[in-house]
Amino acid sequence: MKIHNLIDDLQLELTKGGNISKRAAKKYIINLLVDSNSDLSNLLQSLEETKFSKKCSICNKLDFVDPCSYCSTNSKSKTVSVFNSYSDLLEIGTKTLDGMESNFVIGDGNKSKKQDVDNLQFKMLEDFVSKQGANEIILMFDKNIKSEIISEYIRSYFSSTKLKVSSLAVGISLGSSVEFLDQQTMNVALKNREDN
Ligand SMILES: [Zn+2]
Repeated sequence: MKIHNLIDDLQLELTKGGNISKRAAKKYIINLLVDSNSDLSNLLQSLEETKFSKKCSICNKLDFVDPCSYCSTNSKSKTVSVFNSYSDLLEIGTKTLDGMESNFVIGDGNKSKKQDVDNLQFKMLEDFVSKQGANEIILMFDKNIKSEIISEYIRSYFSSTKLKVSSLAVGISLGSSVEFLDQQTMNVALKNREDN
């Protein structure tokens, strides 16, 4: 094998999920090649272990067991946090208002077409919520059109139930100056104003 073919193959593998840019992948590979003394055993072992990961059939979280370690207990929670992707869940944190890890992952974060939205697992979410005995779900979504569409589908799915569906507040982020706000953010912040 020629070295550039090796680089191409590795680059293809690393960029398969679409989350790593081709450039970043190439840089990483070349760093590995340049530093040929680097010990890859930990990396290889970790990659090997990804084979054993499973998606929980109850909440879609990743774990090494199915049901996941949370779902295999009888934990109850008044609120369920819903995430657009497992990586969002990891970034934002895993505790709900009850201080429990009552989290559900809906979709894979790349849902944009109607048929994809239809394929979201509303029934699974409904079952998860009732198993938890929850009375509220909190949509921990990004603020963009795609997420708004999914939120609307979820709201309409649960509209005939007593379940409260809430989402993260929109407005001014902490530490930001009002003088730099765009009009749209200002309008939403005004609409969501708080009593002091
Ligand atoms: Zn689970």
